[in-house]
Amino acid sequence: MKIDILTLFPEMFSSLNESIIGKAIENNLIEINLINIRDFSKDKHKKVDDTIYGGGAGMLIKPDVVYDAYKSIKGHQNAKTIYLSPQGSVLNQNKVKELSKDTHLILLCGHYEGIDQRVIDEIVDEEISIGDYILTGGELPAMVLIDSVARYIEGVINSESAKEESFSEGLLEYPQYTRPEIFLNRSVPEVLKSRKP
Ligand code: SAM
Repeated sequence: MKIDILTLFPEMFSSLNESIIGKAIENNLIEINLINIRDFSKDKHKKVDDTIYGGGAGMLIKPDVVYDAYKSIKGHQNAKTIYLSPQGSVLNQNKVKELSKDTHLILLCGHYEGIDQRVIDEIVDEEISIGDYILTGGELPAMVLIDSVARYIEGVINSESAKEESFSEGLLEYPQYTRPEIFLNRSVPEVLKSRKP
């Protein structure tokens, strides 16, 4: 799967190089490209935001810089573009599974008060929220989406693990134990002891 990320803060994504997702990138199961929206500003100070028509606190990311950044992505016409947004539908495991079947995602991360609606209307296929609370930017939500979707890409994790996990069959996972058999006077339940880890 190819994932292009439109962001003002590409450095925030360095943690994706760690652990299971890092391995998936190394093994070419996922390709992640970071596009810094600021690089597309024509302003001499590289400004990307402006005040809001009709008033209101804060600044909005301008539509032209986002559009130019989007158009720089190879194959953008055939990709699914997702805007991480508190107004989107809340991400759940079914949606995660569905997204894992896409071959090219473009993730648009807002910041400040968000993004001018006109470019959202022009390029975005879907808005996704990671929960009913407000974050400072779409970078953490994009990482949540990537991490959860990657688990369903073949070869990223053991496919049996994905099947048995919480939410995969509509249920939550049961409590699990490993060695030592007794920890702080708490023993592994008797019924599980016949099948050692
Ligand atoms: N003014 C916006 C509102 O009231 O809905 C909030 C903007 S928020 C401070 C800045 C950016 O963070 C948003 O454009 C979005 O990309 C991202 N964001 C914030 N909360 C989010 C959430 N719960 N899910 C997904 N993205 C979120």
